[in-house]
Amino acid sequence: MKALTVIPLQAGSAELTDMPDPSPADGELLVEGVALGVCGTDIEIVGGEYGWAPPGEERLVLGHESLGRVVSVDTAPDAGFSVGDLVVGVVRRPDPVPCGACAAGQFDMCLNGRYTERGIKEIHGYGSSMWTVEASYAVRLDPSLESVGMLMEPTTIVAKAWDHIEKIAARAYTEQRRVLVTGAGPIGLLAALLASQRELEVHVLDVVESGLKPELVAELGAKYHHNGVAEAVTGCKPDVIIEATGVGQLVFDAMQGTGSGGIVCLTGVSPTGRHLDVDAGAVNREMVLENDVVFGSVNANLHHYEMAREALMAADRSWLERLITRRVPLSSFQDALDRRDDDVKVVIDLSA
Ligand SMILES: [Zn+2]
Repeated sequence: MKALTVIPLQAGSAELTDMPDPSPADGELLVEGVALGVCGTDIEIVGGEYGWAPPGEERLVLGHESLGRVVSVDTAPDAGFSVGDLVVGVVRRPDPVPCGACAAGQFDMCLNGRYTERGIKEIHGYGSSMWTVEASYAVRLDPSLESVGMLMEPTTIVAKAWDHIEKIAARAYTEQRRVLVTGAGPIGLLAALLASQRELEVHVLDVVESGLKPELVAELGAKYHHNGVAEAVTGCKPDVIIEATGVGQLVFDAMQGTGSGGIVCLTGVSPTGRHLDVDAGAVNREMVLENDVVFGSVNANLHHYEMAREALMAADRSWLERLITRRVPLSSFQDALDRRDDDVKVVIDLSA
């Protein structure tokens, strides 16, 4: 089979590698790759900034935003899957100790950092024409999601964000009516989708003035802002902010932009080494005197995959399809790794 592989921490090492077809172990499904979503983490791995090969191997099969079709259940006959099922593979696996969080099924909250991740950290990813997955880490999708099923993994990220926002909100009497999402990339747009499904007043901030992003926001019935965070928060005084850019200044502006009892969820990762002038006292006063919560969120557990599946099923399919701005065959994977300004989600077709 063909696999998209890299030598981690070595820029320019991405290639299509001929590898033996995988053979499923007991409890695993054999899956034919359908499509693979590409995200910022993949670009970082290809750029040599991130990633770990499996122990004892030089190369890592890239890819964690999976979609495939089951071709054999011979090694997992009683797992409830059938040949032809559309499936997505979960990204993270619990650490081997396991820590308390992993033992409780909350491997997204792993406490010791020894978790592994398909296509990122020490386990091969889903960027190949064939792959295997433990049936217990495979999520079956309705056939109607075939064109958009690779959006599951980014949707799990925002499903977890919403799961935790709702848990934080439930700690006291607060009212969540207005939400501001900063950044209209895939994570931001999917966060806005889940906000609109919760019947909140949704605002989305980005920098582009026209084109697909404002259109997709408008189609959710949400308001689009492009004149900076000050204008956006003045206009809506959000109860919840989901920060999806990782732009340091925006993170601090967001922390000061909520109403009383505000909740800020940070999902974007900022580069280190950049210094900002921040009035730390003002941030502290705002947070203490308004009972605000700021929290970070990464990854997702099986519960969030269930939430994501429900969110995609309830979403307008044509809206989801419009998030996918380019599809390229595996043989042209390099095209998928070159980011263009008008990209929202780029997908590699594994069956082409
Ligand atoms: Zn753990």
